[in-house]
Amino acid sequence: MKIVIAGFMALLACGAQALEIRDQWQQGATIRGQVEPGSKVEFLGRDVRVAKGGQFVVGVGRDFPSKAELTVVAPGGERKVHTFNVAARKYNIQEITGVPQSTVTPSPEQVERSRREAELVSAARKKDLATPWFTSDFAWPVVGRISGVYGSQRVYNGQPGNPHFGIDIAAPTGTKVLAPTAGLVTLVHADMFFSGGTLIVDHGHGLSSTFIHLSKILVKEGDQITKGQVIAEVGATGRATGPHLDWRINWFDQRLDPSLVVGPMPKSAK
Ligand SMILES: [Zn+2]
Repeated sequence: MKIVIAGFMALLACGAQALEIRDQWQQGATIRGQVEPGSKVEFLGRDVRVAKGGQFVVGVGRDFPSKAELTVVAPGGERKVHTFNVAARKYNIQEITGVPQSTVTPSPEQVERSRREAELVSAARKKDLATPWFTSDFAWPVVGRISGVYGSQRVYNGQPGNPHFGIDIAAPTGTKVLAPTAGLVTLVHADMFFSGGTLIVDHGHGLSSTFIHLSKILVKEGDQITKGQVIAEVGATGRATGPHLDWRINWFDQRLDPSLVVGPMPKSAK
């Protein structure tokens, strides 16, 4: 079924279930939606948190299958499964040379260290905070040249690696990183093996931003931050060839494409 965005009130008047979806269903998409307040939403076997006003968010990862099912249970108990086509995307191959060889062929100790660090990141991304900060628009945290896109298959110093899940914005070390929208700081780590200076800002309901390779982090865990607040500085820490911001978005363990949430980059002020 092709998604139909219909007027919320109009749908209510017709007696059909009210469901509005703000984003396009495609691989990597953050899907922000609205149901009648008091409804329940289920997606990927999870009870999705619904805000008092009926807003919710889900996400579909890089290799998500071609169909997605979203179940809505209306306040009256009527249960309906909505099926959406998820558009497939093409991902390119990106060769990266010049990263520290130790980050391509890590020692057993380094593998163990990165495993422990990955657990910290994954624990932060499991949080399901009640405040729906994600309903506000997102802005670019840094304006600059895009040097890496979401989804590309990466080859590091000639050796195939994992796909890239962030968007890379080249900028000098020390460039201010602004919060793309409001949220709560759930993880601060000065130096992880692969990601270097690492910061996670939770936007509520399982949606979070991760910023990596930072030279400096200017907030601490538990800080509530506002959109546009300076939260960190760009760096080249961890597995990086040069200074850039790598910005990632997750809905729990679904890794999403920030460029689909934020829209086109504004022209640089320079
Ligand atoms: Zn990156």
